[in-house]
Amino acid sequence: MTAVTLKNVSKVFPGDTLAVDSLSMEVNHGEFLVLLGPSGCGKSTVLRMVAGLETPSDGEILLDGEYANDLPPRERNAAMIFQTFALYPHMSVGDNIGFPLKLGRSNGAQSVPDAVGDMAGALGISDLVDRKPSQLSGGQQQRVAMGRALVRRPKLFLMDEPLSNLDVGLRAELRTEISSLVRRHDATTLYVTHDQTEALTMADRVAVMRKGVLQDVGTPDEVYERPATMYVAAFLGTPRMNLLEARVNVFLDRYVALDFGDQELRLPWHDLRGRAVARYHGENIVVGMRAEALAPVAEGHPGQSIQGRVRFYEHHGHETLVFLDIGATAVVPDGIGDKPDLARSGSKPRRRLGGLFSGFGQAPAERRETDNGPIRKPADLVFRLPPHIPVSAGQPITVAVHMDALHYFDKYGKRIDV
Ligand code: ATP
Repeated sequence: MTAVTLKNVSKVFPGDTLAVDSLSMEVNHGEFLVLLGPSGCGKSTVLRMVAGLETPSDGEILLDGEYANDLPPRERNAAMIFQTFALYPHMSVGDNIGFPLKLGRSNGAQSVPDAVGDMAGALGISDLVDRKPSQLSGGQQQRVAMGRALVRRPKLFLMDEPLSNLDVGLRAELRTEISSLVRRHDATTLYVTHDQTEALTMADRVAVMRKGVLQDVGTPDEVYERPATMYVAAFLGTPRMNLLEARVNVFLDRYVALDFGDQELRLPWHDLRGRAVARYHGENIVVGMRAEALAPVAEGHPGQSIQGRVRFYEHHGHETLVFLDIGATAVVPDGIGDKPDLARSGSKPRRRLGGLFSGFGQAPAERRETDNGPIRKPADLVFRLPPHIPVSAGQPITVAVHMDALHYFDKYGKRIDV
């Protein structure tokens, strides 16, 4: 039995906004599941339906295996924590934390002062219990809100961007505290965020949403290492995964070429990867390369390296990100946020890969009304350099490509398994 089960759950708001589209997902007991996606993708709506604050338009929600679509919020044994701290301003910190217990919503045997004392201690705010919320910093207020939610030991935590009003340092600190606190309480958590760092560091599993549709669900490693779609690949990771359009050309018994226009990578023909990609002979696919799959070399091996000229670079203190103009075409999945940049000055003309692109990357017909398809633009291949290595605009650089670390996506943006 799972803690939360969603079966083909949809939510349509007035005005025909399809906020959640036939979403099926399970949250296991004791699991910390993060719902990740950009603003407006429907993640808060999912959370609110699980909390009972919204009713699904279609589908079923089960809590502990029981049908719960119509169960009032109070009967769900769930605590919600929001982005805004919503503390009672006239009450002290201690009274705020103890408030749910005074309402008789405790399920422990402790007295209220003991429970408040323990909770304040666990959250590191023991010396603040007599203060009013207005006398606290944002991070302290969010700790109090956490304490108030945790104190009655609910079985289920529903958290909606609880850290997004805090500054970077506090967010990092509270990330660790929240995940260790809820794990200590053996609670199940559904946590909504648009912040991939929160998702990848806090979650047991991450569910990535886009436009109301669940794209991928898995452990942080699984969704990062084997993203189910091109969208997930682009959404996770900094810098964003390089996604390059390539024509597949099979040279029987020799190799499978990934033709980027001006240059190519080669996969061995007598190799599972080569065989898997060879099925797309004559077609265009998208090849994904994370920055960590690329390393500058003095001389590259043919078919395993890419050459380009530095278009620009960014110093980030601990590393320099270098953007190479490589004469290829980059693909940006719809919803990732780039604007077309085809008229960029200074980039040389691309050799077109042929005329098979119409509708490239669009999802099957039933979802077309919400999908604009990916944007294509001249590629800047991004890779990392240690900060002390000098680099200059226009400099020619060859990067070796770690061929085992490539990702492949078909014209619908779905992962090609190799
Ligand atoms: P954010 O991170 O910005 O909160 P989200 O991913 O949580 O975004 P939702 O708040 O779930 O997204 O909203 C999903 C879609 O549903 C959006 O298009 C939003 O405008 C719409 N929506 C949400 N609540 C309502 C409502 N009460 N009435 C009408 N439309 C709504």
